[in-house]
Amino acid sequence: MTFDYDVDVAVVGGGACGMMTALRAAEAGAPSVAIFEKSTRQGCNTQFSSASLAAGGTRWQAEAGIDDSPQRHAADILSVSGDRSSADIVDALCAAAPCYVEWFADCLGHPVELGADMPRAGQSVPRLHTDRGRQGGGRLVELLRGAVERSERIAFVDNTPATGLVESRSSVTGITVAEQGGTRHVGAGSVVLAADGFGANQEMLAAYCPDAVGRVYGGVSTSTGDAISWGIGAGAAVSNMTAFLGHGLMVPSTGTRLNPALPFLGGVLVDSSGKRFVDESAQGYSKLGSIVLRQTGGRALMIWDRQAMEAAMNSELMRESKGAGAFRSFDDVQALATAMSMDHATVAASVGGELSESALGPPLRALEGPLFAAWVTGGILTTQGGLTVDPHGRVLLASGGALPGLFAGGGSAAGISGPSCDGYSSGNGLLSAFGFGWIIGAQLGPHR
Ligand SMILES: Cc1cc2nc3c(=O)[nH]c(=O)nc-3n(C[C@H](O)[C@H](O)[C@H](O)COP(=O)(O)OP(=O)(O)OC[C@H]3O[C@@H](n4cnc5c(N)ncnc54)[C@H](O)[C@@H]3O)c2cc1C
Repeated sequence: MTFDYDVDVAVVGGGACGMMTALRAAEAGAPSVAIFEKSTRQGCNTQFSSASLAAGGTRWQAEAGIDDSPQRHAADILSVSGDRSSADIVDALCAAAPCYVEWFADCLGHPVELGADMPRAGQSVPRLHTDRGRQGGGRLVELLRGAVERSERIAFVDNTPATGLVESRSSVTGITVAEQGGTRHVGAGSVVLAADGFGANQEMLAAYCPDAVGRVYGGVSTSTGDAISWGIGAGAAVSNMTAFLGHGLMVPSTGTRLNPALPFLGGVLVDSSGKRFVDESAQGYSKLGSIVLRQTGGRALMIWDRQAMEAAMNSELMRESKGAGAFRSFDDVQALATAMSMDHATVAASVGGELSESALGPPLRALEGPLFAAWVTGGILTTQGGLTVDPHGRVLLASGGALPGLFAGGGSAAGISGPSCDGYSSGNGLLSAFGFGWIIGAQLGPHR
């Protein structure tokens, strides 16, 4: 095969995993790294994410007196997912997490802070790290792009989708890309698939992830599963293809999300009759999506009060919801019940005005007017299944062993949340993306 040009490392996808891989490979001494990106205009999921970074054992936790470690983080993830087969990978990613979160602060200038006000089911201690000002993923992506631009070893090639793998004698030796109206063959010592999952590909969802079909989609249009399809074509194994990151607090009328901290702040979920049906804070927000979808009309009403609102507004997703008009306010329970055509006594019991005899127990605290409410449903943000990899990010063949020359991370690799949407722990998505980028890139120096 004659190549149009060669690089040491070809990265497919310029999101979290792709940029981290490239920066680490350049730092490790790889002379030439090229990131081929389908379209920064359409965007990557990282930039639209909340950029909540799960990491155990960081200096911010130590300063707050929180006793955490990569081991504790890994144990929490496995206890939620129940997927012991991914234990080695989870251990490797959790070990990387505090390193790259500190690197974001020290080398990129990301204003990291511990999200002590971001409790999540399944996390035994506060572990999500975020940015001061809570601007979401856009700020972190901008900082990563700046670092990529400054590197003399990395070329970021935008509007240039990769279209396939090039193989020779059972090894991956390069990729094809759609460039300048034609197909170019790019030779590479190593190819890293960092093109995320298949949340935007209805055919693949129907084939591999039927529970996600028909859900409101909150991810980007570029997640079309290209890299996973090529991997399968090259004989790679896939795992956890039925898994996805769901969200139980998606507002279908605006396409925005409510803050997953609301249930911990006293917010309650009621069905169309006004009755509570779930212990809201006992569920991960991904699992909550399926529970909400089982209610009449596939939706539920989230109700919260001013005290909860003040805390919940410290997030980019709640500010977006407010800006989009995702929720309404009511003077009191009576006004809310009337507007929603619900029985006043039923709603009053649900929000804690009277003792609830439900098996769920009373809500966290009694809510007081004014109240806020939004109809929510279960959505899908990203898929969590993909190419089977080892803890080094090497793609494994269905027939056994690694496929030489090929690595995968982030949404292109099998996730660490088990086989369904119930096993997702908050932060798993970016953990797999940044964690594998950190691990894979470090191996791709000149002497690999
Ligand atoms: C709304 C939302 C909020 C989220 N919040 C969080 C959170 O707070 N914390 C968390 O841990 N996770 C969160 N997630 C999940 C997280 O965003 C993803 O798991 C993570 O961004 C995946 O990173 P990635 O690098 O694999 O993919 P991406 O960041 O999506 O990057 C993939 C890139 O590959 C490009 N690409 C695709 N196909 C090709 C091709 N053929 N050729 C070239 N380029 C290609 C795409 O254009 C894209 O730029 C959220 C997801 C969503 C949608």
